[in-house]
Amino acid sequence: MVVPGRGKSIGFFIALGIGLISVIILLYVGWFFFGWRTGILLFLGVLLTVMLISGIVLNTVFLVREIRRNEQQDAFINAVTHELKTPVASMRLYLETLQTRAVDEAKRKDFYRIMLEDSDRLLETIEQILRTGRIGHSGRKPTLSRLDLGGLVQECVARARTLYGLSPESLSFEPNSPITILADMDEIRAAVSNLIDNAVKYSGATVKVSVEIAATDEKNVAIRVRDEGPGISKTELKAIFKRFYRASGPSAPRVPGTGLGLYIVRSVAKRHGGRAWAESEGPGRGSTFVLQLPIAR
Ligand code: ADP
Repeated sequence: MVVPGRGKSIGFFIALGIGLISVIILLYVGWFFFGWRTGILLFLGVLLTVMLISGIVLNTVFLVREIRRNEQQDAFINAVTHELKTPVASMRLYLETLQTRAVDEAKRKDFYRIMLEDSDRLLETIEQILRTGRIGHSGRKPTLSRLDLGGLVQECVARARTLYGLSPESLSFEPNSPITILADMDEIRAAVSNLIDNAVKYSGATVKVSVEIAATDEKNVAIRVRDEGPGISKTELKAIFKRFYRASGPSAPRVPGTGLGLYIVRSVAKRHGGRAWAESEGPGRGSTFVLQLPIAR
């Protein structure tokens, strides 16, 4: 989403860049007609002009990029504030009700369940922010050990089924022949869980998610998480992996989040010498997220 004021300032910088380049080209053309005899001066002039034009282009590109980054950080702060505030406000409301009114046993149990869910959501958001900091810190290397990928993915699937109350038909997983990877268990678990959580949360009311593991060649294995949710437009397939990026526009699903999940997935893949990408036929046609990792020798 482009904030209106910022949209104007991006327009201003682009117009400024284009204006300056036009003036330089005009000067250059004039200079060429009147001073063509002085060859060396002309050569130096051309060089200077090329340098100036490159400088202005670079300047404009950096300015626009910086403004975009600021926009995303603003959106992130808004999203995180919302994600932190909502569960706390909800817990407070239930606690106040319990304190001030006589509530029957069944209702009380229900309140406790909701408060536990709220505190899980809060912890999840805090954990994502902390994880982003840890992963983004280049000095911090993953702690590698030999892992059975199938067992780890099975664990993530079981966690999601319990968390969202899903049947094996809604969230399916076909275990494959055992594949061992050399990886940081905590990071891979977080990445796979983020992909499953997204597939469930963006599917809306009808969840139909499948998780598969398959070797892509003799060196790599891919975990594929497929859903039949809202899908992703071609133009956003790459952008969604950027830090703080959340899809916007009228067709984007209105689901709370921080824009950190896929950034974590991509960072974890890179830290393990792998790759992460998304595939989708477009809005309304589901999506598939792939996390590819090297197989341990
Ligand atoms: P968050 O979910 O907190 O917004 P993510 O980094 O996990 O952050 O996802 C970034 C964006 O990618 C989301 O805002 C959403 O628009 C899009 N996205 C992620 N997973 C899916 C999915 N399974 N189906 C459709 N869109 C998705």
